[in-house]
Amino acid sequence: MQSDEANSAASEREALLASLLASVNDLVWCTNLDGSELLYINEAAAKIYGIPPGDVAMAQTAWLDAIHPGDRARVEKNLSQLRERGKIRQDYRIIRPDGEVRWLQDRIHIIYEDGKPVRVGGIATDVTDLKRTELSARQTYAFLDSIVENIPIMLFLKEPTDLRYVRVNRAGEEMLGYTRDEMIGETAADFLPPDAAERITQTDRAVLDTRQMIDVEEREIDTPHRGTRTFHTRKLPILDEQGNLQFLLGIAQDITERKLAQEALQEAKEVAEAANRAKSGFLANMSHEIRTPLNGIIGITELLLESDLTAQQRDYLTMVRESGDALLQLINDILDFSKIEAGHLRLVNAPFLIKDRISDLMRSLSIRAHGKGLELILRIDSAVPAVVVGDIVRLRQVLVNLIGNAIKFTDEGEVELLLRCRQESNRVFLEFTVRDTGVGIAEADQPTVFEEFEQAHETANRRYGGTGLGLAICKRLVELMGGRIWIESTPGRGTSFHFTSIAELVTEESPLLAAPPYRLEQRHILVVEDSVVHRDAIEALLSHAGASVVPAGNVAQALHQLREMPNEHALPDAIVVDAYLPDGDAHTLANSLHDDPELAAIPVIVLTTAAWRGDAEQSAGIVAHVLKPVKESELLETIARAVGIVPSAELSLPGPAEPSAGQSLRILLAEDNPVNQTLALGILAKDNHRVTVASTGPQALAQLEQQEFDVVLMDVQMPELNGIETTRRIRENEQTRGKRRVPIVAMTAYALEDDRQRCLDAGMDDYLSKPIRGEQLRQLLVEVTSPATDDKKASHRSRVPANQSEQIPDANEIDRPMPAERRDARSLAPTSNSQSESFDWSHALRTVRHNEQLLRDVLHVFLEDTPRLMRELQSAIAERVPQRVRLHAHSLKGALLFLGPSTCQSLAKELEMRATDDDLSTADELYETLQREMKALTLRISRQ
Ligand code: ADP
Repeated sequence: MQSDEANSAASEREALLASLLASVNDLVWCTNLDGSELLYINEAAAKIYGIPPGDVAMAQTAWLDAIHPGDRARVEKNLSQLRERGKIRQDYRIIRPDGEVRWLQDRIHIIYEDGKPVRVGGIATDVTDLKRTELSARQTYAFLDSIVENIPIMLFLKEPTDLRYVRVNRAGEEMLGYTRDEMIGETAADFLPPDAAERITQTDRAVLDTRQMIDVEEREIDTPHRGTRTFHTRKLPILDEQGNLQFLLGIAQDITERKLAQEALQEAKEVAEAANRAKSGFLANMSHEIRTPLNGIIGITELLLESDLTAQQRDYLTMVRESGDALLQLINDILDFSKIEAGHLRLVNAPFLIKDRISDLMRSLSIRAHGKGLELILRIDSAVPAVVVGDIVRLRQVLVNLIGNAIKFTDEGEVELLLRCRQESNRVFLEFTVRDTGVGIAEADQPTVFEEFEQAHETANRRYGGTGLGLAICKRLVELMGGRIWIESTPGRGTSFHFTSIAELVTEESPLLAAPPYRLEQRHILVVEDSVVHRDAIEALLSHAGASVVPAGNVAQALHQLREMPNEHALPDAIVVDAYLPDGDAHTLANSLHDDPELAAIPVIVLTTAAWRGDAEQSAGIVAHVLKPVKESELLETIARAVGIVPSAELSLPGPAEPSAGQSLRILLAEDNPVNQTLALGILAKDNHRVTVASTGPQALAQLEQQEFDVVLMDVQMPELNGIETTRRIRENEQTRGKRRVPIVAMTAYALEDDRQRCLDAGMDDYLSKPIRGEQLRQLLVEVTSPATDDKKASHRSRVPANQSEQIPDANEIDRPMPAERRDARSLAPTSNSQSESFDWSHALRTVRHNEQLLRDVLHVFLEDTPRLMRELQSAIAERVPQRVRLHAHSLKGALLFLGPSTCQSLAKELEMRATDDDLSTADELYETLQREMKALTLRISRQ
């Protein structure tokens, strides 16, 4: 029973075991001791070896045959050692009948019974998947490792507690100059100099503390073979899955060479900048060095020219002065050009009345054009705003150059300036076109005219002179103003220069906007003008102001229009008529109107040129003259007055107190150069000023301690204490002692922007650039010594023309309110000077119907242009060409007419008459007398 029970228990266990063994994935087997007979193998064999289940015999052979030939020898060797080792463990591959290779891990041991070895048993696991993962991990590692080792970037790992190097790649060895053996297991302090190690450790710690990546520049790392290096290092913490710090990873690049190159570049830049500064310094100095003696030459020559001379002496001296002027012009051009080249020229942007300024400019050029018999036309598109913000000085410089060239290179026809614009938000894109009907420029020469020192017409230029710098300067100025310049030209037909520039609209409140433009709504104006271009321009301007315009091309047409008008209400409110018309002139029309009672009351406004002789005549009905090219604001104002929109009483402005013109001043002249002293003394003494001379800064200060002065003229470059420093001290003294502020005017031969600013910053009131010209000095003295001059600063900009070559007087300069008013005052309240024989103020005023503005404009143009007229006349005489003498004498006579009968006028007339008869025998003498008289006359005028 017992044994039965035992048997059944044993067979139960066996069955349980068999079912367990059948269900496991691992191969379980058993052989006799020498392995020749397979005693047992479980079902897993079929799955692992890919054989039919239960085929034990096959399993027996399959086992050994299946071993991968590459592993077989090793397996056999291991097995042979089984007896002595008792158990072995081995991995090997098998190849299944279907060709699949699988990895097995076999654990084999000897089975003992009663202490004796009886069988061999084994358990084999299919580890193929594990092996594959392991392999791919190893491959990945090998791949990464080869990158780490071969990348030319230093990589290192440090252990996070005491910052010992755990790994350094090959680039690291090369960059630091230590082997891995020298570094691994060490800290930076073990092999690097203490301060470098300290800095490295600090940033390492920061990374570990904050667990944030950082980029650092590690400078001055001493290496054994490669000197001192700079590294750019990125350091980051490496964390495990639980967020524990595992390593500090460093990625570093050697940036020593890049740094050196950067430093070298910076150094080179500084050197270049220093050279540039030296160059401008040199230019400023050169300008100073040349201007100083030139100042002497021109100034003393002018003084001499005012003394008694023989005709020949006068001729020679005039040539000296003209050569001096030409040289000065050249220096100014070169200086301007270099300033632009060196990037020193800065625009001074301010609001200005664009239409007015351009009209003024055209007027100042009109005599030159009319002198050559050319029409000068100005057309401004009505879209152009009244006020824009820009640099009027530079804009004018460009226009003077282009229009000057156009007049120079045109012998007949016209020169036109057209201004159009396009607005985009608060920017105004201006487009200027200067068109002429002159000689033109050959296509081959067109691209080079904007290059410096290039001239297209060699012969013409020998005749006209010029430096070839004008257009080069224009181009650069235009580019500075945000625009571009180009040319269109047909040789023999004419040339058009176009340029654009960007200006801004006035956004803040500007006093310039305060004066509203005159409106002419519901007014009818008859415009009589033969030039279609002109008439269109005037028509556009008047229509834009709200007027309705009836055009006519000549006197007959005008009268026809008037007589055709259906009734009185349709008659025009005013007539604007060009002085010269094909079938008569303004007087012809005015007189015809006068004869017709219906029309007699219509006010007539005449468009004149400065040379119009008809001004002297009186015609009923002519109420005003407006100078051509017409200035919009002036024409509108004149019409507004004529038709009663503005009461005509306002015409006569109240005359303020007598200005200080002609008054004797106490002047301190601080100037070390004896030539300049003589020159300034010469000019000042003539005007009865009392002058005290100081040759140094300290002397000037001492003089100011001892006596009162009305004005100080201060040379900027003086020994001991320069003018700027002296001024600073004078201002300090005045402040601390509560003394009256004496006006100080700088005199300097430097012409760079900074110097001007330095003078004004030091407390000077105004600025006079050498060479000192009598007229400028006189005018300036009046300005700075007039009462109510707290607004002095406002005047300095125009007194300091950025380019001295531009010598257009700024009678109407808008950003100079005080001086302009003073000029008004002077012209309205003529002083005793006006009783001069040669200039009859009241006559001049009468000829312009008491239109102060017109008279001022005419005088302005007259002063501007007579020196040129005189020069032309003189050279015509010298070259003995009667036709040209006649032409120039005639122009001069015309220009003089409005001043009333004068000696000058008779002399010009005499010259003209004799030249008409081809008689130049007395021309030299006449010219000499004329020149003396003209000098006196212009002096009188300029003092008004
Ligand atoms: P310059 O001082 O000699 O006038 P610019 O640079 O102003 O120098 O002009 C260069 C050249 O371009 C002139 O010498 C002339 O040959 C040519 N040029 C300029 N403007 C005109 C024009 N309106 N018509 C014909 N030629 C012109």
